[in-house]
Amino acid sequence: LLSAQGELGTTIFEEMTTLALATGAINLGQGFPDEDGPAEIKAAAQAAIAAGSNQYAPGKGIPELRSAVAAHQERFYGLALDPQTEVVVTTGATEAIAAAVLAFVGPGDEVLTFEPFYDSYGAIIGLTGARHVTTPLLAPDFLPDLDALESAFTERTKVVLLNNPHNPTGAVFPRAVLGRVVELARRHDAVIVSDEVYEHMTFGVPHLPVATIPGAAERTITISSAGKTFSFTGWKVGWASGPAHLVAALRTVKQFLTYSSGTPFQSAIAEGLSLPDDFYAGIISELQHKRDILADGLRAAGFDVYTPRGTYFINVDTAPLGISDSVELARRLPSLVGVAAIPVPVFCHPEGAERTRSLLRFAFCKRTEVLEEAATRLATLR
Ligand code: PMP
Ligand code: GLN
Repeated sequence: LLSAQGELGTTIFEEMTTLALATGAINLGQGFPDEDGPAEIKAAAQAAIAAGSNQYAPGKGIPELRSAVAAHQERFYGLALDPQTEVVVTTGATEAIAAAVLAFVGPGDEVLTFEPFYDSYGAIIGLTGARHVTTPLLAPDFLPDLDALESAFTERTKVVLLNNPHNPTGAVFPRAVLGRVVELARRHDAVIVSDEVYEHMTFGVPHLPVATIPGAAERTITISSAGKTFSFTGWKVGWASGPAHLVAALRTVKQFLTYSSGTPFQSAIAEGLSLPDDFYAGIISELQHKRDILADGLRAAGFDVYTPRGTYFINVDTAPLGISDSVELARRLPSLVGVAAIPVPVFCHPEGAERTRSLLRFAFCKRTEVLEEAATRLATLR
C-alpha cells in the first residue's frame, strides 16, 4: 500500500484544486462545470430518492439506464446493443476504465495509449503490472503519426486505450486515424477500450465512435459518463458497452470494485439520456461560445493557443511569454494572477513530458463571466 502511494502520489486535479481554493484563484484546472445540469434531471433524482430508490442497484445497473444507454447509442450512432448483455453501468467512466484494464491485461501484457494520456490510465495500467506503451499526439492538431502508431503495436499489445475526443489536448480523431487503429488492433488481436466521455462536445466536426468503424465493434468497449454530458460530475454515473463477452468480463471485475453504482442517480440519468436533440445541440453551442471567449483571452494574454475541436479544454504554449516550464508556471499561476490551470507534462511519461514542457491546459466549462474575469487576470501576465 505504501509503495503504491509513493508511486501514484496525489492527482494533479486534487493538487491544483486545493491550490485554487487556498489562493482564491479561479479554477480553470480541474474540469468540472460551475453550473449544474438540467433541473429536470435533478428533480428526477430527488423523486427517485423520495420514492425509496435507495438500496443497492443490480450490479450491472438498473434496466432503465441500460436500456437508455442502448437507445442513445442507436439514436446517435446507429449502434445496436442488447441492454441485457451489452451494457454495464459503472461508478463514473473512471471505474469503467479501471474494470476494463483489470479485466483484459496482466503482467507481461502491453497497453497502448496516446500521449498525453488521462491520468487514471497510467495509474491503473501500473496497478495491473502491464507495460504502458505510448504513441505521441503532435501539435498543432494533436493527432498521431500513423507510422509511429503502427510501430507502437507489438505482439504483446492486449489493449489500445483510446480517448476521443481527447483530454487534455482537445483533439477529435478523424475516420482515417480511427480506421488505422482498428486495422492495427485487428492485426494484433487487441481489444479497443474507447473513452468517449466528451462525445457530445465537438465543435464543427462530428464525433465518430470507433465502434462504428467496420471490424471494430466485436473488439471494442465504449465508455461514457453522465458527469460530462449532463454536468453532474459528482454523481459518478458512467457506463460501458460492447460485445457481450467483453462486457461480461468487465462486469465480473466491477462486482469487486464497487459492486453496484448509486441507484437514484441511475434513474435520473436514464431520463437525461432521453432528452430531445436540442438539449444535445445546446451543449455544443454553449461550450463553443465559452471556448471562443477563453481562447481570445488566452491569445490576448500572449499565449499560443491550440483551439480544440472537442472537449472543454484549451491547450496553450507558454513559450511566447518566455516561460518554458508549465509545471512551475501552474504552481505559481494561482498566486501570481489568481487563475489555476493544469500542466500538460503531468499526463506524460518523461519523453513526452519534455515534448510538452511548455503546454498548459485550461478548462472552459465555466460561466462566461468567470471566463471573462479569468481572461482579465491573465492579461496581467504580460
Ligand atoms: N476519462 C476522461 C478522458 C476524463 O476527462 C474524465 C474526467 N472527468 C474521466 C474519464 C472520468 O470520468 P468520471 O468522472 O465519469 O469518472
Ligand atoms: N476529468 C477531469 C479533468 O480532466 C477531472 C477528473 C478528476 O478530478 N479526477 O480535469
